[in-house]
Amino acid sequence: MSPPRRPAVDVAVVGGGVIGCSVAYHAARHGARVALFEAEGIGAGASGATAGMLSGQSEVQEPGPFLDLLLKSRDLHVPLSEALLEETGLDVEYLRAGALHVAFDAEGAEDLAARYSRQKEQGLSARWLDAGEARELEPALAPDLVAGLYFPEDAQVNPPRLVRALALAAQSRGAGVEEATRVTGFLTEGDRVTGVRTSRGTVSAQTVVLAGGVGSSPLAQDLGIRLPVHPVKGEILALRAGPTPIKANVWGDGCYLVPKRDGRVIAGATEEPGVYDRRPTLGGVASLSGAALRTVPALSRSQFESVWGGLRPTTPDKRPVLGRAEGWERLLIATGTHRNGVLLAPVVGQSVAALALGEEPPADVSSFSPDRFAALARDVL
Ligand SMILES: Cc1cc2nc3c(=O)[nH]c(=O)nc-3n(C[C@H](O)[C@H](O)[C@H](O)COP(=O)(O)OP(=O)(O)OC[C@H]3O[C@@H](n4cnc5c(N)ncnc54)[C@H](O)[C@@H]3O)c2cc1C
Repeated sequence: MSPPRRPAVDVAVVGGGVIGCSVAYHAARHGARVALFEAEGIGAGASGATAGMLSGQSEVQEPGPFLDLLLKSRDLHVPLSEALLEETGLDVEYLRAGALHVAFDAEGAEDLAARYSRQKEQGLSARWLDAGEARELEPALAPDLVAGLYFPEDAQVNPPRLVRALALAAQSRGAGVEEATRVTGFLTEGDRVTGVRTSRGTVSAQTVVLAGGVGSSPLAQDLGIRLPVHPVKGEILALRAGPTPIKANVWGDGCYLVPKRDGRVIAGATEEPGVYDRRPTLGGVASLSGAALRTVPALSRSQFESVWGGLRPTTPDKRPVLGRAEGWERLLIATGTHRNGVLLAPVVGQSVAALALGEEPPADVSSFSPDRFAALARDVL
């Protein structure tokens, strides 16, 4: 009897967003033979639409595995950006200038005060600022603000650069990155996934990682897996302000503002659950422009540069879905990162690559297992 044929690759990754590229890079770093398939172009999905904030403390209040994961990943961006610069020459523009949340009325200030207490209870670094202190930190803020809450360790990157650098670094370690190649289904043997069918042919793989963002659910359905990942559309706009009037990521009245190294300020983002059409709308532009001017009036002199939309891959509990798919061997899912995919990319990339190669993941991702949706899938979907 002839020995079983060795699969063409160790890891096949579906999706060339920040998550798929990070998994491919980290698997390739471990010496795995990797192939990544992207239906359009690298970063064409949500990952090309984001503001690039690394907002661990701004996003989640409650202690627990999710906040732990966000904070761990926030730290991992520092060595990752250094490694990517060394390996590709691309600077992903990591900047730790903090995040400043501002309130314009007593109710908003109370909300910030409650958040401040919760963060301090958890031993996280946070500074309470009265109106004068907040304006000292960011003099361009609207003068009628009443309080501020500053998280000095929140940071940002340039997302298109990060995705490109991850893909390039994966390639330089031997990974195949196939753009314009849609995965149309899976190869299976019994309860094992043994590869992918693509628009350009089939590829056998030891393990398949499904990281297709909002495109993940229809593919999972092909195997009878009900993966409740839905789009939450976000619109976002770019202003060109010359020297940016702010230094930190500013979270104001109905928007956040992210100053970029090239002089742009990114103002985001709307949230529309269930919308698949990513084209921006006049309503989105109006609400973001109004909120931006309310927060930093000096932006009225900035030039309107562009507006775009993206689809966040979101689960019912707004937590990522990471790990082995119930009922199938050798299929891992890595999606559902909702508002935090750029932030989570390093920890998800490391952990899912480790799982794919049969190693212990560096972060405990068991709370984010796809299994948690099994009952929901039976009852609701
Ligand atoms: C307006 C907006 C602002 C955001 N701001 C931030 C932020 O500041 N910080 C942050 O951390 N996160 C932010 N996010 C969230 C973040 O963008 C997402 O969580 C993250 O990009 C998801 O990455 P992904 O790789 O899972 O998905 P995607 O980037 O969508 O990538 C999935 C890829 O899979 C491909 N694909 C799908 N189906 C197939 C198939 N069958 N075959 C082959 N390829 C396929 C798609 O073409 C796509 O390129 C924001 C999102 C939006 C929309």
